[in-house]
Amino acid sequence: MTVTLTTAGPLPPLDDAEATYDVVVVGAGVVGAAVARELARYRLRTALVDASDDIGNATSKANTAILHTGFDAVPGSLEARLVREGRDLLAAYAAEAGIPVERVGALLVAWDEDQLAALPGLRDKAERNGYHASRIIGADELRAREPHLGPGALGALDVPDESIICPWTTPLAFATQAVRAGVHLHLNCRVRDITPDADGHTLTTSRGPLRTRHLVNAAGLHADEIDRLLGHDVFTVIPRRGQLLVLDKLARPLVGHILLPVPGPAGKGVLVAPTVFGNVLLGPTAEDLDDKTATGSTADGIRLLREKGRRIVPGLLDEEVTAVYAGLRAATGQEDYRIQEYPGLRYVAVGGIRSTGLTASMAIGRHVMGLLTAVGLDPGEPHELPPLTMPNLGEAFPRPYRDAALIAADPAYGTLVCHCEQVTLGEIRDALTSTIPPHSPDGLRRRTRARGGRCQGFYCGAAVRALFEEERP
Ligand SMILES: Cc1cc2nc3c(=O)[nH]c(=O)nc-3n(C[C@H](O)[C@H](O)[C@H](O)COP(=O)(O)OP(=O)(O)OC[C@H]3O[C@@H](n4cnc5c(N)ncnc54)[C@H](O)[C@@H]3O)c2cc1C
Repeated sequence: MTVTLTTAGPLPPLDDAEATYDVVVVGAGVVGAAVARELARYRLRTALVDASDDIGNATSKANTAILHTGFDAVPGSLEARLVREGRDLLAAYAAEAGIPVERVGALLVAWDEDQLAALPGLRDKAERNGYHASRIIGADELRAREPHLGPGALGALDVPDESIICPWTTPLAFATQAVRAGVHLHLNCRVRDITPDADGHTLTTSRGPLRTRHLVNAAGLHADEIDRLLGHDVFTVIPRRGQLLVLDKLARPLVGHILLPVPGPAGKGVLVAPTVFGNVLLGPTAEDLDDKTATGSTADGIRLLREKGRRIVPGLLDEEVTAVYAGLRAATGQEDYRIQEYPGLRYVAVGGIRSTGLTASMAIGRHVMGLLTAVGLDPGEPHELPPLTMPNLGEAFPRPYRDAALIAADPAYGTLVCHCEQVTLGEIRDALTSTIPPHSPDGLRRRTRARGGRCQGFYCGAAVRALFEEERP
């Protein structure tokens, strides 16, 4: 296995015919990584390039991490189809690759008569979306299943297949498998300009030029800018910020399901959800902004979340907040994705992957593969990718510090470095020497959970940084 992963220095030279890629995918979020993994199944020269120093380092690292059923999608939309297909694909892949998933189910709670009256319509919508397991439950059953719910809940729509998933392991698994199968990964590589010609595209990047026959634009919040470089004016990304609070692990017993509000004109609203790391999330807000870098949290946002949270599960607010974060959805003013192929340009735009892209990622990958053939790519026959097992970050699954046999074989798995999240020296060492190693302590956190607990690195930060610096390439 030869892995090509570059983070600095020149890219393959343009005058070398061998250096022309068949496909370049711009953007290594969960969507671009899924597209690259799909391309890795074919004998193609493929590159995945990202402006950042890591994969999954933009919107894909800051979401609510729900593996949706698509019960509430707009029936008949491309998004509805890809979420439905993507959920099945990702659930199966997660089981195979060791990505933690918990099928906790969702309860869409009605807090007044109008919301209660809306539940049958939502159940019918779920049916139209091909999801047939939802049912309406009354106040007594709801309270029996969620005893810590605030007063006044009148009933709920039960959606038993809504699940939670690890948002960090997913894009890393896709990219790792792609890179091991021969896809080149170029990080710190921002695409600044694109010159199309009869045979493909020359990309001007922050690390020099790059040549490709076919191009996939999976640049998330910046997909509209890449699209404009190719002469289009089809959509504009309006970043819609979602702020979230992460509550400490002691809050976890207060919440059994994903607790969703009945959606209103302002969108899906604020939810309470467990995480696979054993915490509870409260959020997100929905704020339309004009700054694609505005991932800060605000006093108003946190106030709003606390107000909403107090109504849903009052006891939550007595628990400690471990972290606050915000992610930006790539909204485009259309209740659907903006995926479009351009045969003349050998180009596929994958824009507007707003609030369901984690779930739909693998189905988007397959869909884009089909569109690439429609724009002239001849991929040949697919082959099986070598299987992959990712390190488990999920609280509900065996972790190294609890595995006596593993610790006996290698005491590094019994040496805790991050005590809040119970992360061992062995796991940190493995992440630092993995196929796609982290290039920052935050990247290490997304691979191990180290520094992600209630002390936020106060106790282990120095030790984790020292280990990171030791292995730093
Ligand atoms: C608050 C919130 C909650 C959400 N909850 C869920 C959920 O529960 N379930 C779910 O399925 N989805 C959810 N989503 C949606 C999901 O997170 C996104 O749809 C998904 O992460 C989008 O992935 P992406 O790869 O398209 O974009 P990104 O992750 O943003 O990746 C795009 C990449 O392109 C790179 N890039 C940009 N411009 C350039 C350039 N010029 N050159 C090179 N690289 C470039 C960026 O560096 C970035 O890495 C949520 C989103 C938010 C914000």
